[in-house]
Amino acid sequence: MRLAVAGFADETCTFCLEPTTQERFEPATRRGEAILDENRGIPNYINGFIRAAESEGATLVPLVYARKTPGGFQSWLTRECFDKYADEIAERLDGAGPLDGVLLALHGAMAVDGVPRPEAEVVRRARTAVGDDVPIMVTLDLHANEDEALAAVADGVFVIKTYPHVDTQETGEEAAQRLIQTVRGEIQPVVTCARPGIVSASIFQATEYHPMRDILDRCREWEMAEERMLYLSVAPGYAYADVPDIGMSIWAVTDGDDALARRAAEDVSQYAWGLRHALARDLPGPSEAVADVMQLVERGDRPVVIADGADRIGDTTHVLEELLRQGAKNWAIPGIADPRAARYLEERASVGDTVALRVGGWYNETSGDPVEVTGTVAFMGRPEYRLVGPMGRGSVVKDGFVARLDLGDNRQLVVSERMRGSNDSAGLTSVGIDIDSLDIIVLKDRVHHRAFWDDVAAVDYPINAPGIGFADLRQLSYENVPPNTFPINRFE
Ligand SMILES: [Zn+2]
Repeated sequence: MRLAVAGFADETCTFCLEPTTQERFEPATRRGEAILDENRGIPNYINGFIRAAESEGATLVPLVYARKTPGGFQSWLTRECFDKYADEIAERLDGAGPLDGVLLALHGAMAVDGVPRPEAEVVRRARTAVGDDVPIMVTLDLHANEDEALAAVADGVFVIKTYPHVDTQETGEEAAQRLIQTVRGEIQPVVTCARPGIVSASIFQATEYHPMRDILDRCREWEMAEERMLYLSVAPGYAYADVPDIGMSIWAVTDGDDALARRAAEDVSQYAWGLRHALARDLPGPSEAVADVMQLVERGDRPVVIADGADRIGDTTHVLEELLRQGAKNWAIPGIADPRAARYLEERASVGDTVALRVGGWYNETSGDPVEVTGTVAFMGRPEYRLVGPMGRGSVVKDGFVARLDLGDNRQLVVSERMRGSNDSAGLTSVGIDIDSLDIIVLKDRVHHRAFWDDVAAVDYPINAPGIGFADLRQLSYENVPPNTFPINRFE
C-alpha cells in the first residue's frame, strides 16, 4: 500500500503588514525523504503518519511539505506563493506512480489573496491529480478556519484536540490509520462540518479549561456513545485571519453514517453557541495587570507568567514600560524583537559593556512607544537549543542574533533580531537566565506556553494589551466576516 504524504501549513495574520511570499516558505520547505527524516521521532503529524504506516506495513511516499520559517508574522500569501506549493503538491501526486491514498497535513488558517478557501483548493487540486477513487485525509490544527467547502472534497478531516498542541502525533497517526482502513475497505468514512458562528481570540481557547474543555468533553461523549463515530473534533479557529470561513467549525467523521455525522456536529455546534460568552472575556490591561501581578508576588505567589498574547511581532512595549514604571524586580522578557537595536548591539557592543538604547515599538500604531533602557550586556550570540517541554520536545531551535541586557535588580531584557518563542525554559536558559530567580516572566504568547509553564508558574496571567492580535476582537476591523458572527458583528 502506497500512501502519499504532503503538507502546506500556515496561520496567516492578515492584520500584519507585509505579504507572504515564497521566500518565507522555501527555507523551511522539505521535499522527498527529507520530510520523513527530519520529523522522525519528533512528536508531530508526520511522525504520526510514520508510526501508523510502520505498524500497518504501508509505504509512505513523501512529496513536499511547505511551511513558513519561524519568527514573526506576515500577512496574506500572494497568489503566486500559494500556486507554487498547491500546484507542486498536485504535480508530485501526479508523478508519484500508483497511489492508494493521500495524507495532507494542512494547518487550516491560511489566507491567500484571491483564494477565499485555500485548504479546500489544495485538496481540490490534489483530487484532480489522483482522481475520485483515491481517499484523501486531511489533518488540521485547532486554529483552522474552514467550512463545508473542505468537507466536500476531503474523505476525512482530523482536527487536533489539544491547545497547547500536544496531540499532533496522535492526530497524524489516527488520520493515517483511518486512511489505511479505508484503503482496505474496512470503513467508508464520511465527513461533515457545522459552524456555530463564533470567532474567539486564541487566548481563550485553552483546551484544559472552560469552555473549550466542556465542548471537547461533549465530543468525547458522542465518540463513546456511537460506534460509527470515528472522530469528532472542534476547531475554534484563528481570529487574526480576516477570511470568509473564519471561526469555529465542528468536524464529524463517521463510518458511512451521514445522518449521525450531521446530528453530532449540529449538537456540539449548538452546545458551543451556548458557551460563547466565555470565549470573549474582558482581561486587564498592562497597567492594572502589572500592579496586580506585583501584589501576587508580594504575597508569595511566584513566579507569575504574564501572557501578552496580542504581540504577534514581538516588538510591543506596553508591559515593559509598566514593569519599569511600577518598579518591578526579578523579571525577564525573553524577547523584544527589534532588528535595528539587535544590529546595533551586535556591531557596537561586547559582553560586559554598559549600554543605553531604545528598544521595541517600531511595527505599527499598536506597538507602543520605543522604551529607553540602560543595562549591562550579559549575553550575546545566536543560541541553538532543543525544546524541553511537552510541545515539540527535542526539536532544534536556531535563534537569530540576541543580546541579554541586565538592567539591575535582576531585570532581564532580551533584545532579539526576530520574534522568539519561549514556550518552555530553553529559550531563557539558552541566554543564561536563571529561572528560579524570577518573580515575573513575560511571554509573548497565548496558550502554548502553558504546556510547560503551568507546572512552573504559580499563576498564569493573561492580559489584554494592544497589539496586532488583540484579545478583544472588537478592536480589530474585519471586512470579510460573515453576518451574525459573535462577537464581531453580533454582540449577544
Ligand atoms: Zn494552533
